Amino acid sequence: MAFYGLLALLAGLALFPPTAPWSERFLTPLVALGAGAYLFRKAPPWGLGLLFWGLGDLGWTLGEPLGFPGERSAQALLLEFPYLLGYLALTWALLKTPGKPLRLTLLLLPLGLWGLLQALQGALGVDRLYIAWDALLLLLLLPRLEPLFQGRFLGDRALWGVGFLLILFADLAYAHLEAQGGYPVGHPVHLLWTWGYLLLALGVGAEGKEEAPFAHQALALLGLFLLPAILLAEPTPLGVRLFALYGGAVGGLGLLFALYLERRRTEEKNRRWTRFLEALARLSPRVTQTLSPEAVLTEALQAARELLPQAVGLEVRARRGLVGRRAPHFLSLPLNHKEEAWLYLEAPPEEEIPPGFLVLLGERLRQVLKQVEWGTLALTDPLTGLLNRRGLEAELPKLLALSRRYRAPVSAVMLDIDRFKRVNDTYGHPVGDEVLRRLGRILQESVRKEDLAVRYGGEEFLLLYGADRQAAKEVVERIRARFRAEKVEPIPYPLTLSAGVAGGEMPEEREALEAWILQADYALLRAKETGRDRVTLA
Ligand code: GH3
Ligand code: MG
Ligand code: MG
Repeated sequence: MAFYGLLALLAGLALFPPTAPWSERFLTPLVALGAGAYLFRKAPPWGLGLLFWGLGDLGWTLGEPLGFPGERSAQALLLEFPYLLGYLALTWALLKTPGKPLRLTLLLLPLGLWGLLQALQGALGVDRLYIAWDALLLLLLLPRLEPLFQGRFLGDRALWGVGFLLILFADLAYAHLEAQGGYPVGHPVHLLWTWGYLLLALGVGAEGKEEAPFAHQALALLGLFLLPAILLAEPTPLGVRLFALYGGAVGGLGLLFALYLERRRTEEKNRRWTRFLEALARLSPRVTQTLSPEAVLTEALQAARELLPQAVGLEVRARRGLVGRRAPHFLSLPLNHKEEAWLYLEAPPEEEIPPGFLVLLGERLRQVLKQVEWGTLALTDPLTGLLNRRGLEAELPKLLALSRRYRAPVSAVMLDIDRFKRVNDTYGHPVGDEVLRRLGRILQESVRKEDLAVRYGGEEFLLLYGADRQAAKEVVERIRARFRAEKVEPIPYPLTLSAGVAGGEMPEEREALEAWILQADYALLRAKETGRDRVTLA
């Protein structure tokens, strides 16, 4: 807090500088020293750079009145020394900062080249070295500003980037002013330095913080708008003015564009989050998918793809359920203490995954899979996996509606294992149970997803959607053949079943279906009476 207060005071002084020479002479070095001290622990190369530059400025301020004139004196050379150390430290600082290949910042490249050209002008004296080094720093700076356009808007980087630009412009203007015979009192060049140091300190000091405060964006822009100060101030040479005009315009527009890109990215991200949350909210065990955790995984993967388009697969380890496909990158979603889901990604995520994403997805997945489990328990017969009475109650209305909508027939099939009591009596109930389990599996595998395979009250029956009696008979004949081929140890003979088929029309209402089930039962009775191991039509 104290730091920001001090900063505000200095900023005020720098923005409205008293024209008294002391302010120009002392303010700039003091700001550089303060900024350097502030950064020293946090980012040593930056801190050292500013400290050395501040020392250099202070040396000249103190030295000049004491009579350090002339560029060639030994003392003057001594005074240049801190600047060189400062340049070294800041070059190091820039080299340590990661950047990206030039794209939009290419537009600022001419500034660096122009700076290098300026350094060739003999008239600039010892300042040529600084101009050349400035140009070099600018060339190093550009790739480090590129992430503003290519990734997230980094408010800290925008700040110190602008700070650097201001300092470089000030150096150039100063060199030319010196060459023209002096740097007049009240010229805004020291204002640019002061602001440059401030922005550098603020920016580097804020580096690594999550959100760029609005104040940082505003300060960076404001800093660029200071450049026209050079344009207006006499007696700045025309070349420097054009240089500042170009740098200010391109820099300012670039910053605005970077902010615009950032806003678009944020909006897109918000939209993605909204779609993700909506998809998560929709994620539920729809009753037709009651028995399928796979369908839940498919929908969860769809939801995840709203936020992470590179997601290609989702797997629940303990259940060995996989939808989509595996890929080399994955994120882990803890479901509970023994289950874990893996979200496979085709490519590593471009940005950090918000922690809420994994938590939300994992939690919802866990809930819905649990619901599926409970639904399965509540709606199915535990021995055969066929629908129980509750399952039939849940599914029947949908079958009726579907049949009515598409005017499709439905057949009712009643099935019964032949001489099943003998199996139980001869080989024991567990063997009988295994026979029932096998029949249940055969039934489930033989019908389509619109069909209902039911067991309640010890009776097995089927409701076949879209099948007239003849088609239903064919389905049952296949079931009969498969059941006969099934070998259940230790039963030595082939198992047979009998069936009755009824209906085969469009059921007007539920009662019609119930009547068909009864009729199918009669037909089954006839099949039993006429010798078993056959399918009879009502
Ligand atoms: P039919 O050929 O006339 O059908 O003769 P069946 O012996 O198969 O007679 P029925 O269809 O009436 O079969 C009844 C037997 O089914 C009695 C009972 O032992 C057996 N059963 C019913 N539910 C189960 C079950 O959950 N497990 C086992 N192991 N047996 C069952
Ligand atoms: Mg029976
Ligand atoms: Mg039987």
